[in-house]
Amino acid sequence: MTTLDELRTGGLAATDPAIARLLEAELDRQRNELELIASENFTWPAVLEAVGSVGTNKYAEGYPGKRYYGGCGVVDEIESIAIARAKELFGAEHANVQPHAGAPANMGAYLGIVDLGDTIMGLRLDQGGHLTHGHKVNFSGKHYRFASYGVSPTDERIDMDEVRALALEHRPKLIVTGASAYPRHFDFAAFRSIADEVGALFMVDMAHVAGLVAAGVHPSPVPYADVVTSTTHKTLAGPRSGFILCRAELAKKIDSAVFPGMQGGPLMHTIAAKAVCFGAAMTDAFKEYQEQVVANAAALAEGLSERGHALVSGGTDNHLVLLNLKDSALDGQQAEDRLADVHITVNRNAVPFDPRPPMVTSGIRIGTPAATMRGLDPADFREVAALIADALADAPDAPALRARLAAILDRRPLYPSSNAYGKVTS
Ligand SMILES: *Cc1c(COP(=O)(O)O)cnc(C)c1O
Repeated sequence: MTTLDELRTGGLAATDPAIARLLEAELDRQRNELELIASENFTWPAVLEAVGSVGTNKYAEGYPGKRYYGGCGVVDEIESIAIARAKELFGAEHANVQPHAGAPANMGAYLGIVDLGDTIMGLRLDQGGHLTHGHKVNFSGKHYRFASYGVSPTDERIDMDEVRALALEHRPKLIVTGASAYPRHFDFAAFRSIADEVGALFMVDMAHVAGLVAAGVHPSPVPYADVVTSTTHKTLAGPRSGFILCRAELAKKIDSAVFPGMQGGPLMHTIAAKAVCFGAAMTDAFKEYQEQVVANAAALAEGLSERGHALVSGGTDNHLVLLNLKDSALDGQQAEDRLADVHITVNRNAVPFDPRPPMVTSGIRIGTPAATMRGLDPADFREVAALIADALADAPDAPALRARLAAILDRRPLYPSSNAYGKVTS
């Protein structure tokens, strides 16, 4: 029988050993597999600590200095620091750090700057876009009229002529760009000039590349866009969350769309962790990390190309590559399973003009942010490219491939001196 006193004072291992064991098991899994899912990362121990903090206890509906609850003095300081750091990091006029994740950030942005039923343009989901950019199963596709643009069949890059033609035809209120599976830079200036030509607002969802942008290794959308939305847990390497940047004149609309428009109380523990994440992203060390992320993706692309694999758009400018399996006997599902069998974690992903169905696909999305966080360098990624090519070749020797992978993971340990909760143990 657990006593009330034991609940009040006991840690996780004592209070709920089943969940504690599973979190240990999840840490083991993260340590012993090669994580190449392009949207994932391993956040800093300091962020893990902040996420597990007493900030979770506080109700703070409203914004710093304008709350609907008492006792908000300390969390006001935390949120103000998070806002100031986000603005400084990205050179933005205004920041809202309350969105709970990337999808709510997009919902808040749409609610703030367009009306339900308005026309928006976004990148097609099956050519790299995100569900919240107008897919019919998502709130975005249900409540707004989306005109979707895609990539060119020749170079598999966003077709700016098509974007302009669609914009002139549909006269959207908002043009959105940004992607979940696009290996190239975006031409933000061209988007801006098309938006100006048709009198539309321009929004960039930088969820995938925010860390690269913060470090200056990817062009920044901030000088061009009216609104920029993002996650914090992908390349930015922070807690699972989101935020919105915008021009000063849209600040009030964005803030009231997020609260009271669509969210209740902010997650103050996560906002504390976002402040930590933005602070870390201002350091030279972070810039060094992001340069490694991009150098590793280039090494991976080179290694895979040398082994005869086709890559969408022929290569990469950022943190990910898309393996094109259109002409391969293996489909995306089979390739994902082959790699899982040798402890390499990736996700299958549609490639542009994919002939196979969405649950199967003809592509594999491979990203370097998480593996770079545990220290893999370009030489390691050459070996990873060889491992992937060997695993996808006929009759792979899985035990031998697993041993080669284990050698890399052993010399690049994950969280070598902290535990599953970010607590430093040595
Ligand atoms: C990941 C992603 C999102 C959604 O983020 P969640 O935190 O999963 O809600 C939105 N837009 C883009 C482009 C993304 O890649």
